Amino acid sequence: MRLDRCPSLVLFLALASTLVGPAALAAGRPNILFIFSDDHAWQAISAYGEARRLIDTPHIDRLAREGVRFDRCLVTNAICGPSRATVLTGKYSHLHGFYNNTNSKFDGSQTTFPKLLQQAGYQTAVIGKWHLVTDPTGFDHWHILPGQGQYYNPVMIRDGQKVQHHGYTTDLIADFSLEWLKQRDKSRPFLLLCHHKAPHREWVPALRHLGHDHDRRYPEPPTLFDDYAQRGLAVRDQDMSLEKTFTERDAKLTPPPYLTPEQLKTWNAYYEPRNEAFRQANLQGRDLIRWRYNRFLHDYLGCVKAVDEAVGKLLKFLDDEKLTANTLVVYSSDQGFFLGEHGWFDKRWIFEESLRTPLLVRWPGVARPGTVNRNLTSLLDLAETFLEAAGLPIPADMQGRSLLPLLRGETPPDWRQSFYYHYYEYPVPHRVRPHYGVVTDRFKLVHFYKPDVDYWELYDREKDPHELRSVYDDPAYAEVVRDLRKELARLQAELKVPAEAPKEAYGRLYTRPAKGPGD
Ligand code: CA
Repeated sequence: MRLDRCPSLVLFLALASTLVGPAALAAGRPNILFIFSDDHAWQAISAYGEARRLIDTPHIDRLAREGVRFDRCLVTNAICGPSRATVLTGKYSHLHGFYNNTNSKFDGSQTTFPKLLQQAGYQTAVIGKWHLVTDPTGFDHWHILPGQGQYYNPVMIRDGQKVQHHGYTTDLIADFSLEWLKQRDKSRPFLLLCHHKAPHREWVPALRHLGHDHDRRYPEPPTLFDDYAQRGLAVRDQDMSLEKTFTERDAKLTPPPYLTPEQLKTWNAYYEPRNEAFRQANLQGRDLIRWRYNRFLHDYLGCVKAVDEAVGKLLKFLDDEKLTANTLVVYSSDQGFFLGEHGWFDKRWIFEESLRTPLLVRWPGVARPGTVNRNLTSLLDLAETFLEAAGLPIPADMQGRSLLPLLRGETPPDWRQSFYYHYYEYPVPHRVRPHYGVVTDRFKLVHFYKPDVDYWELYDREKDPHELRSVYDDPAYAEVVRDLRKELARLQAELKVPAEAPKEAYGRLYTRPAKGPGD
């Protein structure tokens, strides 16, 4: 329900809050546990049943079994900060103002769903990754990593004070989350944002997960050796490939600098013999890329295992405390990730591996257990979903839509049939040129428009599921192109996209121009 459509509800809430106070107002409302990871590809969740069967994630899978699995949850701008700001505000980058991870700062004075829940009597906390530069607002308690944070022995900021911790960061974030839940006021509902740093680059697993895959050789994606032949300069000139971009630290040929001597001993016992064998083998060409792919997946999936265990700890707590029935649990990631597809790691693109993110929602009595939803949904919809779940009005300027009807298995007849995407950050890191586009069930129309390119691409996912061939210039698609350009213009008008983004939107593009392919 939208605020502008329901003035009487607003008046009621204002009156009720004045008369009985926020605590009484919040009584009987569901708890909300939002577990958010960083760069967790849907291909690396077993509930998504990806063909490569990369990993088992039993605890995350439980949410799919007991709730709804969303198969086409899309992000608005596939990098950390912008996506997180979208979750908080229910708005695109051009309205919440966080465009990139290079020079954007979140304006914490704007309306966010945690603030609205806090005002309505929820006790609110965010624990773990924040990555929005300014201090969190709308939380009774916050305990966050500065910037990206580190995988072991992290410094964190607890309610404004720096604290040094010892241990593995994913485990610490789960433990701090449990501690906060245990000390909460049981008479009021809670909103907990448990935000993992993992499995972000440079993919550093817990010591207990070193060797978790028993030196498995992972099935390769069909596009591992993509030659980009039928796409434009932007795709050919990126800097995120296992071939050219993968560093010694990514490969764990040098250990992370923040391990204690004891941690380093266990670390080296696993990596050193394998690294020595690698050096002896002197691999070249495709063999070298294959080695990197397997090392990358060992490390990345090792990080995912700890995240899955952390999810298990929180779900067990809800069971033990008999909170499961009245707690809305959401698992998602700030965007998807390439796990070797197109020869890449990282994200950013409108292509499916990064555009699409996992979304699993359990809410007993509301979300139909074990169902799969294939509607076009988005992280843009989460703020609205949380507000409606809490019985609160949705501000009229939020741009997404509550997922509650979809959770119940009802698709509103006017549910979105197309989705707008816009990526800005350039040239560092990874040299992905700014692009925007429109996405439907079947097609993607994309405009690469800065700084040295100006061309369109069209992908037909039905005929080309791996997005290897732009058919924009194929006369057979002329009508599709015309219709999608019209739809794109309609979406841009509806979403209030300005004709030109401010220069700051593009990271270093205007402040420190690229010198060449190596920049
Ligand atoms: Ca991310």
